[in-house]
Amino acid sequence: MNYNKKHVLQTLESTFSTFIETVNQLDHLEPSQYTSDNTMIVMIDMINGFCKIGPLHSDFVNQMIPKMAGFLDTMIQKNIPVISYRDSHPADAGEFNYFPLHCVEDSEESELVSELQRTELIDITKNSTNGFLAQNPIDLPIINKEHLEHILVIGCVTDICIRDFSTTMAKHLQEINHSARVTVIENLVDTFHIEASHDRETEHLLALYHMQASGIKLVRV
Ligand SMILES: [Zn+2]
Repeated sequence: MNYNKKHVLQTLESTFSTFIETVNQLDHLEPSQYTSDNTMIVMIDMINGFCKIGPLHSDFVNQMIPKMAGFLDTMIQKNIPVISYRDSHPADAGEFNYFPLHCVEDSEESELVSELQRTELIDITKNSTNGFLAQNPIDLPIINKEHLEHILVIGCVTDICIRDFSTTMAKHLQEINHSARVTVIENLVDTFHIEASHDRETEHLLALYHMQASGIKLVRV
């Protein structure tokens, strides 16, 4: 394919200008529609290695913790199940060919941040960016698969682990003809910033755009 750079960049500008307005006006989540039967929460990688210490931690992810804690407590009070995926790698993990050494199993980096620890959480460890490949959460015995309508996704980072899990989950539901919907909570997901190579705002929005195109709903709390 020969690319018309000017045309592509103009299209991107108009597409994203509309999308940014959509994201700025997202509906707010209405907690009353979510029950212990019809909803599950998937929280991804809210661990020390992405929030507080180590080569992949980000202050932007860390800053979500207080709001996330409030959201978790509201949902736990309603007995809504919460699955917490944690990056936890063996020392020779294949992922270390693509990312620096991080979140090795049983290390402080792979522990859930203390502010979000709750006895009700269902803990699942994973060895890739895609938690679904470690455990399909709707197959867990605690989930009422028949009545499930909402899978609410929170955590980090928007353009890697959140996008990987959410798109695979959404496609799996389509594959098995299940009517449940994946919803990403836009202000309870975030990503990191590296000057001149990974622009936080742009990568976050690109990932949200891609997820919405895959049938994933976006809301805010
Ligand atoms: Zn990892």
